[in-house]
Amino acid sequence: MSVYKHILLATDLSAEADQLIDKVKHLAEFSKAELSLIHVIEPLSFAYGGDVPMDLTAIQAQLDEHAQSKMNRFSGLLNYPVKQSHVVSGHTETEIHKVADEQGCDLIIVGSHGRHGLALLLGSTANGILHGAKCDVLAVRVTEKEE
Ligand code: AMP
Repeated sequence: MSVYKHILLATDLSAEADQLIDKVKHLAEFSKAELSLIHVIEPLSFAYGGDVPMDLTAIQAQLDEHAQSKMNRFSGLLNYPVKQSHVVSGHTETEIHKVADEQGCDLIIVGSHGRHGLALLLGSTANGILHGAKCDVLAVRVTEKEE
């Protein structure tokens, strides 16, 4: 019997994200699970409360293209069949929950720095994903790396 049927790996596509690859791959193999990936691009306008007095379309398109090519590279490194690779735009936690619900994922895997003190109080993306998820969330410890 499979423990999980459809795993969603949330990746920020940073250098640290590569640290998740072995564990995710082995867990998916062990569970004979489908594996999907998601990377969320927060629109540039979000940083300014949506009110930006200039056209960011071209820069945003370049960022989207760059993220897509990083996702293709990351997906290739997994060496495991990827069901769907989502590169979506919006609020990170909201989009991850939405895709997990829509695709019937039963496990979301995230990276976690296991920060302490203030960072923990303020909450990390991993915390945000855990709160509000309708399925299990596995936080895999990563160590910070210089890009
Ligand atoms: P952070 O709290 O920013 O260190 O991120 C913790 C984890 O949340 C990362 O390792 C990813 O698994 C996930 N995450 C952060 N940002 C994104 C993003 N833009 N898209 C998808 N997952 C993300």
